[in-house]
Order: sequence, then structure tokens, then C-alpha cells
Amino acid sequence: MTCKVLTVVGARPQFIKAAAVSREMLRHPGQIEEVMVHTGQHHDENMSQVFFDELDIPAPRYNLEVCGGTHGAMTGRMLEGIERILLDEQPDWVLVYGDTNSTLAGALAAAKLHIPVAHVEAGLRSFNRRMPEEINRIVADQVSTLLLCPTALAVDNLASEGRRKGVSNVGDVMYDVALYCADRTRSKSRILEQLGLQAGQFALATCHRAENTDDPRRLSEIMAALGDIAQQMPVVLPLHPRTRKSLHDHGLVACLRRLRVTDPLPFLDMMALEQAANVILTDSGGVQKEACFYGVPCVTLRNETEWVETVELGFNQLAGARREAIVAAVNNRSMPRQRPLVYGDGQAASRIVSSLRSAAS
Ligand code: UDP
Repeated sequence: MTCKVLTVVGARPQFIKAAAVSREMLRHPGQIEEVMVHTGQHHDENMSQVFFDELDIPAPRYNLEVCGGTHGAMTGRMLEGIERILLDEQPDWVLVYGDTNSTLAGALAAAKLHIPVAHVEAGLRSFNRRMPEEINRIVADQVSTLLLCPTALAVDNLASEGRRKGVSNVGDVMYDVALYCADRTRSKSRILEQLGLQAGQFALATCHRAENTDDPRRLSEIMAALGDIAQQMPVVLPLHPRTRKSLHDHGLVACLRRLRVTDPLPFLDMMALEQAANVILTDSGGVQKEACFYGVPCVTLRNETEWVETVELGFNQLAGARREAIVAAVNNRSMPRQRPLVYGDGQAASRIVSSLRSAAS
């Protein structure tokens, strides 16, 4: 019997993670069928469609076009739309990724209809409940049947919450994607030439977490630090729409003058910049790990991280959002010679699909 999986995605990092798993599902025709729902949370061409095109993700069957509004309003509209689709499609599984409002809505809608939920990136914790992502991931884990963890630490986090059943360490799907894209990045991206950059001689920065963008003090300190670093080397900043709006709202747009600001980049261009950067500064979960995969020193613009291994192994420094601390971390950067082997072997997607198939049979 074919196992029908309804995948809910909505935000940039979810398209990237789903790319690996969708590709794996397509390798088992007749055994597993995927129906993809895009909630619409990220909808701009360069935050959404470009990832479907570059990573060969099948077009979603449904697009709920839910974007903007408060967390409650957005999640509520998603819940309503996803529930309607679940009642029509009657899948064997609902598959959700990560920690966004789309994750929460997909998991809750399914659990209320007694449809089992599989959560990819289960068990991650920042232990900071002021982060909307932390609430989303805790609730998604609570209602999930299969908790597909990226690391041993994520398994331990769940165990310390008393959760063992259905939990497994499958490895990190983002590592699968990084391996899949390595050759394509080299052959397809021309971003270094386009921006006039030399490998190893620039910094790459991203900033979009609400704790930074919604707090003008943190945001202006981060921007001031990037301006200081730009006196040593070019700083490339692919600007997230939320950050652009926030800089505008708080009168901080002038801070961008010293930086090489771009629109959000397609994935292969982003990978090319990450691989060639001298240092990466970020508050993104995915980018912290990619820095580690590529052996580029990372400075994280947060006070804590879910990806604790990157810090413990010496690949990542937590600098918070203080100007001096960020600049000092960049100046102190060093890299251990050994790459970490904590994110799996690039076969996470295959383990995820096997888990779905065997739990359904
Ligand atoms: N990314 C991208 N283009 C950009 C910025 C990020 O392709 O301009 C990729 C990045 O390489 C990583 C993913 O988007 O794979 C991370 O997404 P994001 O930072 O939005 O979310 P998070 O990982 O923090 O949940």
C-alpha cells in the first residue's frame, strides 16, 4: 500500500530541508506519495520560488497564501487552511520541518484530526521561551509521533523531557543538501565575480531573528559592528525583508552604507559566498551549521544557540548583540583543523523516508 505523506512547508529553511526529503521520496514511486502544502509564510520570489527551481522541489499541490499579520492571526489562518486540506486528502502522515508558524500549524491541525505527525529537527532547544521558534518546536514535538532528531544532543533534550518513544537521531538534512549542492554551487554560481569579491577576503553576514530585528538597540549595535568590520574587509549582507523593514522603521538605514547589501540570495549563490567567506556573522540556525560544514569561522549574533555542538567544537562563537563583543569575536577567530562529525553522514533524508514507511506499515 502507498504511504501518503502530506508535507507542510512555508519558510525558506523549510524549502531547503524538504528538498532533500522530497527527492528521496521520489525514489520510491508506488511506495510513498508526497502531497506538499505551501502555507505562503514566505512568498517573495527570492524567499520561495527560487528555492523550488534551484533545488528541483516538486511544485506544491496547495498554496494557502497566508502571510503577514501577528503570530496568532497567521497561525490561525494556516490551521484553518491545513485542516481543510487534511480532511480532503486523508494522509497517513503529516511531515513538518523546524520551528516556524507553519510547523506549529501543520502539527496542531494534524494532531487534532488524529493524523500522526513526523517532525524533522525535533528536540532542538535554545531554552529561551521568548523566541517564537522555541514555542513552535516545543509544541510540535509534544504532538508528534515520530521525532526525527538531527543530533545526539537533540535526542538527549527530549529524553530529559521524558520523551523516548518514536525518537531517533537521523542526522541533519541540511548536511544532505550541502553535499548535494557542492558540485552545482561550483559550476553554477558566479556571485563572487558579480560582487567583485576575492575568496577568503570578505565577511558574510545575515540577520533576521526577531530578537535582533524587533529590538532597535540590538539591531543598531549589530549594524555598527558590521560597519566596524567593513573597515577591515568587505561585508556582504543579503538582507532579509523583515530586517530591511525594521531598519527602515527604526531610522537605521544609513548603517547599510558601508556594507555590500544584496537582496536575499538564491541558495547556490549563498553556498558559494559561505564557502569563500573569511568569516560568517549570523543569527540564522542554518547558516551557523553551514559555516561549520564548510570550515569557515562563525560568529553568532545571539546569546544562545540550539546548535551547541558548533560552539563546543570551536567552530562558532556566541557574541550576542554588543558591538565590541562582535568585533572582538571576529578578531579572535580561529578554526579547529578537524571537521565535526556530529551532523550525520548526508543520509538523513533516506533515514527519514525509511522511518515514515516502516511506521506506516
Ligand atoms: N539562505 C539563502 N539565501 C540567503 C540567506 C540564507 O539561501 O540570502 C539560506 C541559508 O544558506 C540556509 C537557510 O537559508 O540554508 C537558512 O534560512 P534562515 O536563515 O532564513 O532560517 P533559519 O535557519 O535561521 O531557521
